[in-house]
This record gives sequence, C-alpha cells and structure tokens, in this order.
Amino acid sequence: MLLLMLERGMPIDAVYYADTGMEFPEMKEHMQKLDELLFRERGLHITTLRHPKGFEWFLYDTPLTRKKAIERRVTKELPVIGYGWPGPRARWCTGHLKTKLVDRALKQVKEKCSAIQYVGIAADESHRCKQDKDKRYPLVEWGITEAQALQICYDRGFDWGGLYEIYNRCSCWCCPLQRIGELRKLRQHHPDLWRRLLDMDKRAIAMFGDNPLGRFRKNWTVKQLDQRFAEEERKQANLDKEVTR
Ligand code: SF4
Repeated sequence: MLLLMLERGMPIDAVYYADTGMEFPEMKEHMQKLDELLFRERGLHITTLRHPKGFEWFLYDTPLTRKKAIERRVTKELPVIGYGWPGPRARWCTGHLKTKLVDRALKQVKEKCSAIQYVGIAADESHRCKQDKDKRYPLVEWGITEAQALQICYDRGFDWGGLYEIYNRCSCWCCPLQRIGELRKLRQHHPDLWRRLLDMDKRAIAMFGDNPLGRFRKNWTVKQLDQRFAEEERKQANLDKEVTR
C-alpha cells in the first residue's frame, strides 16, 4: 500500500509501524529498506511503535489489575502476574502491542489536526475493514488482493529476505495462533527462534502449569510439537532411503 501511495503521489505525513518485538529478523531488514525508500522519496522516517516492556513481559510478568481476574488466579493457586500464552479468546498481544499503540499515536496527531488513517488491508480480506470516516483502505478501493500486493512488492525489489517464500504469514514468529504447518517451517528454517520458543514454553509451563495460560496450544506444548516434527523428519528420511535403494 505504501509503495503505491508513494508512486501515486498521495500525501503522506507519517508512517506508523507497530513492532511487537517478536518479528522475524528479515522483517526488521525489510522495514529498514522501506524506511530508506520513504526517506529518499518524501524525507520521512517510519515511526516504530513499541511497548516499552514487550511481549514476554505481558506473557510472564504484567501484574493483573482486575479484582475478579486476581481472585480467579488465587482460587486456582496460580500467579497473579502474566497473561500466559495468547489464545483465540485471550488475544491480549494484538491489543497491547499493536492496536493500542497505533490508536494512542493517532489520538496525539488528531489532537493537533484532522487525519486520515490508511490501512493496508487487501481486497480479498475486506471483511476486516471497519466503517470509520477517518479510515481508508486503498488496496480494497483499488481491488488489489494479497497475492497481487505481494507481487507488487516483489516487482519493486521488496522480498522480505524470502520470508513469504517460506511462510504464509509473517507476523510474530512465536504466535500460538499460527497453523501447525507454519510452526513446522519455523523449526526447519529458523532453528534459533525455535529454540527460543522451546525455552519460552518451558517457562510458561513452569509458571502456570497445564492449563490454558501455560498451554502453547490446546493440545500441544512446543516440546511435543518438537518431538512430532522430529519424528516426521525421521520417517521421511527413512522413506527417502527406501526410494534411493
Ligand atoms: S501475530 Fe499472534 S502473537 Fe503476534 S500479535 Fe498477532 S495474535 Fe498476537
């Protein structure tokens, strides 16, 4: 969206990027490259919005404030700090690490002047658009799908260091809501991040135990997934051996 807005000469006063702190290293390089282009074209830098404490602080350390939530934890003899792993019904990460930061930044702008927020939702995910007089969705207006948007980026030399050749989604590498297939690829292509995820999960289990707070996914710990993927690899290697015999 930003590349096309630049090409079409649309006015841009600020570009905000909410960084959860759990982005792939390739994403950081991509943002740097994009920032350089933005500066060359418009003399602007991307404003990165980051919560000062970050993802792991919310996961393990944030003090609970709601009385009922504290009471529930005390009854279950669970710590009264940390939100535990995010899940479909407890997606605290999007709110605390993305939406709230962007909303706060926009509020500050809107205190000084009127502002239109452009959001990069693609035409084939338009159900995510919100009716709001201060928001616009250029990709939806231009009928550009996710696949077309990706190709537009590739055509202009933005390839995310190959991330989208591997993964379907490139948000937080530690996201428990991503598909199992994506986690399998994480183990294979980013073993260092996978090791970190194993450690994070170990800490969550030690802290919260076997319940939704400590469970990475409903039926899987990261260690169990690790064993499953390793077993799959062993079986595949044996099959390959059979074929070459
Ligand atoms: S990608 Fe996953 S972990 Fe990251 S903010 Fe979104 S839901 Fe949360």
